[in-house]
Parts: sequence; C-alpha cells; structure tokens
Amino acid sequence: MREELLAFRGVTRSFLSGEGEINALSNITFSIRSGEFIAIVGASGSGKSTLLNIIGCLDHPTSGSYIINGIETIKLGAEQLSRLRREYFGFVFQRYNLISHLNAIENVEVPAVYAGIYRNQRHTRARDLLIKLGLSERLHHLPGQLSGGQQQRISIARALINGGEIILADEPTGALDTKNGQEIIQILHELHAHGHTVIVVTHDRHVAANADRVIEMSDGVIVKDYTRDLMSGDSPTSPRKIDSFRATIGSKSSSDMMVPGYSGPVVKILASRIFLFIEAFHMARRALLSHKMRSLLTMLGVIIGIASVVSTAAIGEGGKRYVLTDIKSIGANTINIYPGRGWGDSHASTIHTLVPGDAEALSTKDYVDSVTPLVAQNSFVQYGNINARVVVSGVGENFFNVRGFIMSEGIAFGADDVGRQAQVAVIDNNTRNKIFANRRSALGEVIMVGGLPCIVIGIVADNKNIFDDPSNLNVWIPYSTASSRLFGVNHLKSIIVRIREGQSGELADADIKKY
Ligand code: ADP
Ligand code: MG
Repeated sequence: MREELLAFRGVTRSFLSGEGEINALSNITFSIRSGEFIAIVGASGSGKSTLLNIIGCLDHPTSGSYIINGIETIKLGAEQLSRLRREYFGFVFQRYNLISHLNAIENVEVPAVYAGIYRNQRHTRARDLLIKLGLSERLHHLPGQLSGGQQQRISIARALINGGEIILADEPTGALDTKNGQEIIQILHELHAHGHTVIVVTHDRHVAANADRVIEMSDGVIVKDYTRDLMSGDSPTSPRKIDSFRATIGSKSSSDMMVPGYSGPVVKILASRIFLFIEAFHMARRALLSHKMRSLLTMLGVIIGIASVVSTAAIGEGGKRYVLTDIKSIGANTINIYPGRGWGDSHASTIHTLVPGDAEALSTKDYVDSVTPLVAQNSFVQYGNINARVVVSGVGENFFNVRGFIMSEGIAFGADDVGRQAQVAVIDNNTRNKIFANRRSALGEVIMVGGLPCIVIGIVADNKNIFDDPSNLNVWIPYSTASSRLFGVNHLKSIIVRIREGQSGELADADIKKY
C-alpha cells in the first residue's frame, strides 16, 4: 500500500445560516494516499468545495480530526497552517483568481514570495514552469490579455511554484470550453503521472472517468468511494517519485531559501520579516502604478478629507477667539454698580444714593483698573435741520477705557474736561452718519445735545460688538456737564468698574458690595 498522506476522522463542518445550523460536512472519515488522482463528484451544494477547502487548510473542521502526513492540524495556529498549506498544496480555482495588474510570471511568483524565495530564483522557476505549460510567448502578458485556458495554465503554474505536491482543483474546467477544458485535464493527468497527488472537484464526466478514484458526495456525506483498477503500470506498493515538474522547480533545499549561511533563529525571523516587507512594498508600488487613476482619486479623497478636518478645526478655533475678543471688549472684566437692593428693585429709580464721590473712592482700590460714573437719558441731538433720537450718556474720562472703545477720529475727553464741565461730545458712527451724512468731517462741529450746544471732539470706531444694539445712536458727554447742565441731577445711574487684568472678579465684587 502507498503511504497515507491525508486522513479525515469524523470531520464535521457546520455553518450558521438563517434556518439555523447546517452541516456542509457530516462526520466524514476517509484517507488519501500519496500519488492518487481523485475526482470528487456530486450535486451542487453537496459539500465538495467545503471538503476541498478543509483538505487544503483554507477552512477548518468544526469537529473531528484532520491529519496531514502524520501532523494533526486541528490544534494548529494560523501561522503553522499557512506553512503546511505552502509546503503541501497548490490550488487551482474555477475562476483562476489571478491578480489583474501582475503579468503571468509575477502571478506565478506570488506564493514563492511568501515562501521567502529569492527574487531571481523564483523568477527563473516561474518562467520555466510557464514555458513547460506552453506559455513561452505569454510570459509578460497581463491576465486580461489572455484566454481562459491560458489563464488557467498560469494558475496551474502558480500552484506548482512552491512544489505543489498535492494539487487541489475546484471545478478547474467549469469556466472553459470543451477544448480548453480537455487541455487542462491533460495537464492535471501529466502532473499525476509525474507523481503529484491530484484532487479535482468536477462535474465533468470525462475527468471522473479518467480518475483512479472517485468520491461521490451527497448532503455532506460520502455516498460512494470507489477505486478504478487502471492499468497504469504502477506497482501499487512503490510510491512514484515526483519527477519532471518537481525537478524543474527543484526540491526545497535549504540553499534555495532565504538568508543562507545564517543559522540563528532570531536572525532568520528578522530577515524574513524584512524580506516580506520589501516584497510587500514592491507589490504595493506596482499596484499603485498599475491603477494610476484610482490611486490619484484615492489620494485626492484623502487630501480633501484631511483638508476639511483641518479647516473645520481652524474655523472652530478662529470663531472661539472672535467670540472671546468680543466678550472681552464689552468688558467681561467690568462690574456695573446700580443703586437699590438688587435686580428689579422697583424703588431703584427713586434711590439717589450713588454719587460721583463713590466713583472716586472706588478708583483707589488696588484691584480696580479704572472707574467711570454713568448718567444717561434718552434725548435728541440736532445739527442744522437734522434731528435724531439718541441716548445721551454722561460719563467720566475713563469710560472709553472701561468699555474698551477706540477712537476712529479725534480724541476722548479728559479729566480736565470733566472737571470744568466742558461742553464737548463724543459720538458713535451711527450718530455721525445720521447727522453728518454728507460732510467729510464732523470734528469741531457744534451739535445741540438736548438743547445744550457741544463741540464734537471724537468719534468712536465701530466695535461691532455682538451684544450691542446696532440701531442705537450714542452720544457721550462728561457726566459733570450732563448732571448739572442737562439733566439737573447730582446722583448717578450707575458706576462701571473695570477690574485690573489678572484680579479675581469675585473678590472685587464682594469688596465693592461691602463698601
Ligand atoms: P458544493 O461545492 O458541493 O456545491 P459547498 O461545499 O459549496 O457545495 O456547500 C455545501 C453546503 O454548505 C451548501 O448548503 C452551502 O450553502 C453551505 N455553505 C458553504 N459555505 C458556506 C458558508 N461560508 N456559509 C454558510 N453556508 C455555507
Ligand atoms: Mg463548489
């Protein structure tokens, strides 16, 4: 008897599907000897592909035992399984499964890359195999430029590049016409004659008729398994030697493998990692170059993606700063002091206890940056025959600093103007546009503020504050002028305190309340 190469013991493979668990394979037990030519036949869905995938270590049994050349595979990890796969099996698929941007030689080389075989060596092997399979004129063609039969021959060469002691073919003629199909079958027979074990899943009666063993499947079990007594001339007791095809590719002597001369396992592992990395890099580069448009569009997508994330972040950051500056400009670090007991005190307007002396006293506190008293009334300004409703505010010389206003023209009034109740006015841009619409300069003009003539000495730049009502017209005059000459009162509406940068607003608030 020939040696037992593969052995199934009670192998079951089940899949979860909509209707629950289905057994693609149920409790299969059989074995395959080295050098057999086996046809697996059976209706569609009977489990042929599942069986072949498990034989080739592409899939794993759910339960049972599968032994390859004495090695139990059930407990092996992915790494060890893939080594077994490389060492024993060569795959031929119905749809060839070639890589479209690699030419014939390069496609054949792929499994050898993973086996760690040097570039020159695998190139020579791939070429020799393709020549043997009658593709000497097509070595550098891409799969798309070749017929189905030619593509299938490339995939057979690929199955042989690492040795392919056991050839697994799943309906290899399924996509081919009769003539090409026969050619492929012929090649499989030659491989068998050269000592390869060949296992073919097929619908083709001819293939089955020529196999020396036929396994028939139905509903996940083997229903027939018979050996034909072919007059092959082989003595069944003498295992055939794999010759010609194997001779071409050579047995895997250690000198074929990478890093010859180094025996340390750590050096070997490191070198094989580097080797695979370099090969992966070459393949990736080729893939990119062969799909220039696709690569370009992918890059473009990535660039647009990154650009939008960056700009969204930048806009967010910019917006935040803008709002913060705005809040600062309206005086987040200012405290407004009103008479009365709190918000909504109905007697507040009749309480006249807040006086300019309070403002002066507050200005001596060390947490205070500047202080301004404030009196305000709705009133009118008049210039020539133009009249406008405005808010007239009487303020101290520090007001513009307290509120963070900047002059676009002219100057603000100073302490001496306040001291001598000067009739000077600072106006905002709205007021300027309203009453000096056609004049080039408003500075030095005399306007009537609620009946009191004042000289315009400054115009406040628009500070586009999100909290200001843009429809308001504002006129500011010294509070001393406003109190005595305009409103005729001595008490203040409020006092605004600007807290020194870096001082605690809460502490200041508490101290002012105490005061
Ligand atoms: P065959 O190759 O003989 O046509 P398969 O081995 O492909 O049959 O499938 C056998 C059974 O297992 C079928 O019923 C199929 O639907 C099921 N099957 C195969 N693969 C899967 C999977 N990945 N998931 C779920 N069910 C599967
Ligand atoms: Mg199938």
